[in-house]
Amino acid sequence: MKDSFGREIRYLRVSVTDRCNLRCAYCMPEAGVEDKGHDGVLRVEEIIRIVRAAAELGISKVRLTGGEPLLRPGFVKLCEGIAAIPGIEETVLTTNGLLLPRMAEDLKKAGIKRVNISLDTLDEGKYRRITRVGSLEGALSGIEAAKKAGLYPIKINAVLIRGFNDDELPALAALSMERDVHVRFIELMPIGEGLRFWPGGYLSAEEATGMIPGLESLDKTDGVAQVWRLPGAAGTVGFIKPVSHHFCSGCNRLRLTADGMLKPCLHSDREIPVRGLEGEALKEAFWQAIRAKPAENREMSEALPSRAGRRMNSIGG
Ligand code: SAM
Ligand code: SF4
Repeated sequence: MKDSFGREIRYLRVSVTDRCNLRCAYCMPEAGVEDKGHDGVLRVEEIIRIVRAAAELGISKVRLTGGEPLLRPGFVKLCEGIAAIPGIEETVLTTNGLLLPRMAEDLKKAGIKRVNISLDTLDEGKYRRITRVGSLEGALSGIEAAKKAGLYPIKINAVLIRGFNDDELPALAALSMERDVHVRFIELMPIGEGLRFWPGGYLSAEEATGMIPGLESLDKTDGVAQVWRLPGAAGTVGFIKPVSHHFCSGCNRLRLTADGMLKPCLHSDREIPVRGLEGEALKEAFWQAIRAKPAENREMSEALPSRAGRRMNSIGG
């Protein structure tokens, strides 16, 4: 599927729940979110049907996200269903990792290729502060469980937050010394709860790069990340710059929310409902979403908040 600007759309991010077992201060309100109930979210079979239609239109990569995807009842069955769809070459996952010790082996068997695990700090007190309820030990056990299950390469995602983890960037980057472990630093976005940190908490990727001694540019990109390496490291360190350098010109993705809306662009409130659609009507909804992809999103920048119209836990990142 090519959009109006010649971009080949092959990547679908699927948020399977708004709910989460953490309350990261830049993502979710402290009190959590209203439970949409069984009928407020797509059923497992509906998600599989929608992804099948997407695959027939050329989607080959699916990322399952949330909220916390591993909380979703029937999640392993959903992974199995998606990984088995003809045309889907890669089924991957973004998670906070807390439930991986219980689920990593089953996810691997279900066809999940690899995982991204979110970890913003290596300090127990700070982890509790940013997630409000989590324990660092739980997240680190999740990373170990992913390694044991062979969910490689593992990417550790850390949001850059001035005054919170800017003193830990070298230590976080050093997680990439290990083979097949890559660290990705992401600029904090002025979206939903992220606005609470705005503008003081924003740290540009460019400034963060200078805070990690020894980083060498590999002069290449991996997806939307610019890739660097620490001397002697087997893995890499990437920087994702949604705020300072939009990657719209290479955007190859659509997003599906847990309540059944296709989002053509993360930072626009335009949404196309797909719940209840089948066959040609469902495919036509995908075409509408693709036609609605803007050439670029000029709205979000260091000066202007995103117009996503939802919080991150409901879009999936
Ligand atoms: N719960 C899973 C997790 O944390 O990995 C998946 C969903 S979470 C919304 C996906 C990613 O979005 C996480 O890496 C998180 O750090 C990131 N995120 C959430 N709010 C953000 C914000 N305001 N700016 C940048 N990244 C954000
Ligand atoms: Fe939950 Fe992920 Fe949002 Fe943290 S970033 S509150 S783990 S959805």
